[in-house]
Amino acid sequence: MRKESHVHILDLQFQDAEQTIGAFLIQSGDGLVLVETGPESTFSVLRGKIEVLGYKPSDIRHVLLSHIHFDHAGAAWRLAQLGARIYVHPVGLPHLASPERLWDSASQIYGADNMARLWGSMEPISESSLIQVEHGETFDFGGIAFTAWHTPGHASHHVAWQFDDTLFTGDVAGVKISGGPVVPPCPPPDIHLERWKKSIELIRQLSPSRLYLTHFGVVEHVEDHLRELEQSLDDWAFFIKEEFDQGASIDDATPRFMEYTRLAMINRDVTPSLRALYEYANPSWMSVTGLMRYWKLKSQGRL
Ligand SMILES: [Zn+2]
Repeated sequence: MRKESHVHILDLQFQDAEQTIGAFLIQSGDGLVLVETGPESTFSVLRGKIEVLGYKPSDIRHVLLSHIHFDHAGAAWRLAQLGARIYVHPVGLPHLASPERLWDSASQIYGADNMARLWGSMEPISESSLIQVEHGETFDFGGIAFTAWHTPGHASHHVAWQFDDTLFTGDVAGVKISGGPVVPPCPPPDIHLERWKKSIELIRQLSPSRLYLTHFGVVEHVEDHLRELEQSLDDWAFFIKEEFDQGASIDDATPRFMEYTRLAMINRDVTPSLRALYEYANPSWMSVTGLMRYWKLKSQGRL
């Protein structure tokens, strides 16, 4: 049996849409391994998908997080309460132990009124359940090995997880849904173009046969995918750089950027319904804020 058949892709049906946020389940010699948890708002969907496969959420022993954004890690506390260990970047770990600041900063981005609907709830995870992962560190779960690669750029606390010739890329390899284009999610606060490109280069060096994207699913033409990601990252970043250089505010730049990305999608024959899924997975207005912040810090010599 081929190795990739052991990876179950769980569609968490975020906001009742298909293929916007995923999680990945692997049976190991030491219980179930879950890569990504999705937000807490989709925990009942996660539970249902695990049960359809004949397991229970409490069978999950190891939860490997790409980073601590809510759409990737928001349900981790639920699994920790059921006894799972949570593997996370050292920069992200304190925010899972004391999630107040994480919650507050997300509230500023999404609006306090939208938090529960989008993300559910968040509770602290006991430090005894949290394991910090170093760059290149390998964990053996009953004969199945996963290696953590620190891959900043989208977030300073980002990890890509290698399993055989497969790489779970969180957000660092971008978003690609249902055969659509590859786009880079650029939320605040720590978008960093140069670090992101270095992380893409690291992925190339690891030369995986396939990537698993949290948004969404498997990619087999890895080099084509990475090249398209680099191009769209530059494209988005330099669109916003021009706005920044001209002194545009975020409010001014946002409708222009949204129209720019909408037309780019139309030029690629992306249907309105698929465009809507991209907006669920990666709202384009959010990338204006993230990239404006990047150019501002860079202009101040703070990056
Ligand atoms: Zn993210």
